[in-house]
Amino acid sequence: MHLDPFELHRPTTVDETVDLAGRLAPDVDYLAGGTDLLPNYKMHLNVRANLIALEDVSELRGISLDRVGAMVRLADLEADAAFAASFPGVVAAAREVATPLVRASGTLGGNLLVETRCFFFNQSLPWRESLGYCLKADGDRCHVVPQKVKCYATFSGDIAPALAVVDAEVEVAGPSGRRRLPVSRLYDPVGDGIHRHKLAAGELIVAVHFPPESRGLKATYRKLRIRPSFDFPELGVAVAARQDAGGRISRLALSLGGLETYPRRFDDLTEPMVGTVPTPATVRALADEVQKRVRPVHNTFLAPEYRKKMAGVFVRRATAEVLGVPESSP
Ligand SMILES: Cc1cc2nc3c(=O)[nH]c(=O)nc-3n(C[C@H](O)[C@H](O)[C@H](O)COP(=O)(O)OP(=O)(O)OC[C@H]3O[C@@H](n4cnc5c(N)ncnc54)[C@H](O)[C@@H]3O)c2cc1C
Ligand code: SF4
Repeated sequence: MHLDPFELHRPTTVDETVDLAGRLAPDVDYLAGGTDLLPNYKMHLNVRANLIALEDVSELRGISLDRVGAMVRLADLEADAAFAASFPGVVAAAREVATPLVRASGTLGGNLLVETRCFFFNQSLPWRESLGYCLKADGDRCHVVPQKVKCYATFSGDIAPALAVVDAEVEVAGPSGRRRLPVSRLYDPVGDGIHRHKLAAGELIVAVHFPPESRGLKATYRKLRIRPSFDFPELGVAVAARQDAGGRISRLALSLGGLETYPRRFDDLTEPMVGTVPTPATVRALADEVQKRVRPVHNTFLAPEYRKKMAGVFVRRATAEVLGVPESSP
């Protein structure tokens, strides 16, 4: 595997970056830490001739309780004690990404837009060529769900579910100016599965913003993977909650990644629990319903039936932990 030559551009401001992306479109990608993009380029997956390095764009840096810049390295985020005290679930998820070495280069913005995973896609060129490629790169059919319209590659970023449950928003800059959208709406649940997010061509993630009312929520992130040392999630469960002095839930959110094509929230299940005092039975009912709804397909290493079952187990354990109720027996 080798990296084909590309032209590297090094802008220093957000305006210059977005302008460059517009002029070089569509043969261009943004380059943050490169820990996902460059290995994919080595496998000849959707390679572009131009890369815009974000390293020198100072506005993309900085960590505060209100805002984390897109170019903040995951290692710096997990080392920030004040941020960890306010957003423990986000830091727990960041700590679960890859290895310390990868987190020293990998960034928050890159993690939000990490490429989706499928064992028919994350393969070398000769491997993919031997199968006639697939819809997501160079081919016209899906090997997982045989048809020619939709890709079912799995959303495998660890941090997006943890950001979604604290109602974080992404700030993006593009040819038509700046806008913000909730992390939970950054991804497209109904599209072709190939374009994994709802950003327009050339839009740049500038930062993630955190609402003050989300500070100090009790939160956790639980991850299922084969090798705990560095594998991508086969399932990731993020939960955040607040309870009053009597134990009544005033806020509860749940998001699952690593299972379907986008990180999915279950507001219609968690919102009816607001105002109630949780019990092992209500937590179990929530977990059972989530398990019933999720639809993993066979494109990662663990069998979809197992991942579906584990979705129920992980949701039950994570929610019981955050709400401080004993776990019901399996
Ligand atoms: C061995 C290994 C194990 C890994 N394990 C995990 C894991 O367990 N969990 C996990 O979540 N990830 C994992 N990763 C993937 C990756 O390392 C992380 O997701 C990392 O956070 C990606 O950040 P990056 O800065 O390196 O992104 P890059 O590789 O630079 O970029 C990723 C994508 O995001 C786009 N992009 C980057 N920044 C921006 C921006 N500001 N605006 C718009 N587009 C942008 C790029 O164009 C590219 O398409 C692993 C990678 C490796 C090599
Ligand atoms: S789900 Fe299908 S189209 Fe998508 S990467 Fe896998 S084989 Fe390709």
